[in-house]
Amino acid sequence: MASRGEPNGAFGTYSAPNAPFGSPVACRSCGTTVLVEKFSMAHTSVQWMSDAGRSCPEFARRSAEGGLLRTCVALRDSIDRAVVAGEVVLSARETP
Ligand SMILES: [Zn+2]
Repeated sequence: MASRGEPNGAFGTYSAPNAPFGSPVACRSCGTTVLVEKFSMAHTSVQWMSDAGRSCPEFARRSAEGGLLRTCVALRDSIDRAVVAGEVVLSARETP
């Protein structure tokens, strides 16, 4: 069926060939960029590309206060906006 010589073309085009995981989303407060992959509306996975405590001031402050925060509020908001804007596509992969 595939006659154009593209290997593994059966899965179609996935928009981020250089990103091994999800879509990059930048925190509008501190500029920290994380990779976001959405498995379902309720399941969003965030992967930090750098040490969260160093790259995000809010994250560092919250964790110093003893909060069990996994992300800063501005970043979470940025992720929500990216999802609404369609910048984070639903993952084609199976949930592990
Ligand atoms: Zn931040």
